[in-house]
Amino acid sequence: MDACLFCKIISGEIPSHKVYEDEKVFAFLDINPVNKGHVLVVPKNHSTDLVECSDEDLCSCMSAAKKIGSKQLEALGAKGFNTLINTRPASGQIIYHTHIHVIPRFEGDGFKHWHGKSYSNDEERVILEKLRF
Ligand code: AMP
Ligand code: ZN
Repeated sequence: MDACLFCKIISGEIPSHKVYEDEKVFAFLDINPVNKGHVLVVPKNHSTDLVECSDEDLCSCMSAAKKIGSKQLEALGAKGFNTLINTRPASGQIIYHTHIHVIPRFEGDGFKHWHGKSYSNDEERVILEKLRF
């Protein structure tokens, strides 16, 4: 994909701070990190988002994310990490090349989880009917 920012990062046309690379995967520091050491893991094959990404590429990326998260624990003294994938605009995706965020976490770092909502009346059953396979 000629115009894709992350394809240009993978090819080296745009500079990045590479953390990890293998046959299928490239990983580099996020330019605007949630916490320092926040890494983006991307498949070398272009796909726009998780839905379009092959299972093989996805497995390779998740395996790399596990290695990188473990390294954040060891090398940065992180107390945990989040792996996060935004899919489509409503989720906050802004770059349309599949990527996994690997975010090192520290006590009291201020990165908040979602506020839970409650189901009313029959809503849970209706949603379940739509969702289950
Ligand atoms: P998303 O909202 O999931 O699409 O996340 C895109 C991420 O890409 C954001 O966290 C940005 O900070 C990051 N980003 C954008 N441009 C660059 C770049 N040139 N190098 C590294 N990270 C970038
Ligand atoms: Zn791309």
